[in-house]
Amino acid sequence: MRQFNQAYINGRFVPVHGETLIHSINPATEQVIGTTTLANRDDAKAAIAAAKRAQPSLGQTTKAERIDMLRALQAALLARADDIRDVSIEEYGGPVSRAQWVSQYASQCFARTADILTTYDFTQRLGDGVVHQVPVGVSALIVPWNSVAGTICNKLASALGAGCASVIKPSELSPWQTEVTAQALHAAGLPDGFFNILLGRGEDVGDELSTSADVAKISFTGSTQTGKLIARAAVDTMKRVSLGLTGKSASIVLDDADLATVIPQAVAAAFMNNGQACIAGTRLLVPRQRLEEVLLRVRAHVATLQVGDPHDPATAIGPLASQDQYERIQRYIRLGLEQGATLIAGGEGRPEGLDRGYYVKLTVFAQVRNDMTIAREEIFGPVLSILTYETDDEAVAMANDSVYGLQAYVFSANVARAQKIALQLQAGGVLINRSAIDPLAPFGGFKQSGIGRENGLYGLQAFLEAKSMVIG
Ligand code: NAD
Repeated sequence: MRQFNQAYINGRFVPVHGETLIHSINPATEQVIGTTTLANRDDAKAAIAAAKRAQPSLGQTTKAERIDMLRALQAALLARADDIRDVSIEEYGGPVSRAQWVSQYASQCFARTADILTTYDFTQRLGDGVVHQVPVGVSALIVPWNSVAGTICNKLASALGAGCASVIKPSELSPWQTEVTAQALHAAGLPDGFFNILLGRGEDVGDELSTSADVAKISFTGSTQTGKLIARAAVDTMKRVSLGLTGKSASIVLDDADLATVIPQAVAAAFMNNGQACIAGTRLLVPRQRLEEVLLRVRAHVATLQVGDPHDPATAIGPLASQDQYERIQRYIRLGLEQGATLIAGGEGRPEGLDRGYYVKLTVFAQVRNDMTIAREEIFGPVLSILTYETDDEAVAMANDSVYGLQAYVFSANVARAQKIALQLQAGGVLINRSAIDPLAPFGGFKQSGIGRENGLYGLQAFLEAKSMVIG
């Protein structure tokens, strides 16, 4: 059994002062695989102090020095890619194909930011003055459990590229993935304090980061509920806040779409990352006249997707990450049934033959109305709702009838027509005829799905502050 009781502060792995113990459970076997001692507020203060000491020297690094650091991190993460893949299977239940992708993505985040820096100009002439883009300062990077190494590396790459020292707080539910990622980052040999990492609960470590006068910026990814707490806590010290939050994304299939191609893409958009994806396209909007054909194809396609052992390369969907997640999905399936939706695949309980592990059935509801709970709330598991529309305008109105606006998908044989629809959608990103995002495109939400953008150039700029100098 593994013990996780260290934080990474000021360039060293040190024992935490907290006393709260939690167990980690392998979601495929339900066996306890580790015990974690969580950091506490004092540990958070020590991490913030280390970042504060490091900030002046990091802030003064040249572009070439930052590029060198990013390249070193890229290589260090690549060297541990197999370990990152393996722990995201063991601790999170990610199917091997997804875990493999995450393990590469973590390293590529640093490569992309290094590439962006090579052509980025930190100064710009405007009128009589010069605008300098300067680091915003010490940054707290708060990370959820559904994409640990990738989110840590993505945020850290942008923060470092901008010259910001950071304190990283991953979810307390992912100690093993955090440990391996922290070891890989440490191996890059960056100066002490440039980044610090600790695991702790939101109510103490997270709160310390959100309220400390020594933290200038919070880059948070997680639920809208927590994002609101953070934004409120952060305003007293007027921190800059980037929030990547909850989604309830719509996939619109237009009446000209080739369903043989589109339905597998739309189902992939809904069930990616075991259904635990903020950008999951869980509301599938289809033209009423094509509903029967859609149902036949969705049912047939879902039946081909293997749920099971995440180590098996043939597995499309592994277990959910925790017992809480398992129960949450069961609750939403019951709600769908109670509110009158029609089950066309899956349902309550575990899939046949899987008696242990947090496996759920791939579930699809038809006859869903947009006012049903399953169409309004983020379920965060492999549950797809199919809704019908009569006209393109109605499809747009239904897609936009949500408090969230993270991602949307449009499928059509006519790209120009799809683009016209996409322009009307209230979402931070729209994918046309594909289900994978482009990591260089700005990523973030409209409405209650967030504030600000991450990834690529926009991600870098989120850690910069404009300082204008006008000389008389
Ligand atoms: P969560 O909001 O419960 O927790 C996220 C992180 O915030 C964790 O590290 C947690 O410890 C910390 N936290 C909790 N309370 C805090 C507080 N008061 N102050 C500071 N930090 C606090 O989210 P989760 O359950 O870990 O992740 C799932 C959610 O994240 C889903 O809603 C999903 O849609 C969302 N998500 C969004 C994106 C995006 O980019 N928009 C990406 C991935 C996940």
